[in-house]
Amino acid sequence: MVMTTHEEKMRTVRFRVAATPHIVVNSEICRADCSLHACVYVCPANLFVPLDDGGILFNYEQCFECGTCYIACNQEGAIRWSYPDGGYGVTFRES
Ligand code: SF4
Ligand code: SF4
Repeated sequence: MVMTTHEEKMRTVRFRVAATPHIVVNSEICRADCSLHACVYVCPANLFVPLDDGGILFNYEQCFECGTCYIACNQEGAIRWSYPDGGYGVTFRES
């Protein structure tokens, strides 16, 4: 079996970053209503960073568009999720 490191996998991924974020996190909801912060643990790209005040720092630029954060978040309205405009976002290719 061929093992592939995370770094090797990331070399097969390209991002064309849109000016407008396709995912927006409402940190006020995170602060007020969320103790689990599931997004921090489920995002395969580690894009959710917990802040000391209970909020979340989020960076959409290297998102894989997998949708896992949207499914895992249990607070309505905390994550606004959509696909990037055509031609933007992630592309995967063979290594
Ligand atoms: S799981 Fe949802 S509500 Fe909780 S911190 Fe993450 S985005 Fe905010
Ligand atoms: S869609 Fe996937 S990669 Fe993008 S922020 Fe959500 S969990 Fe992370």
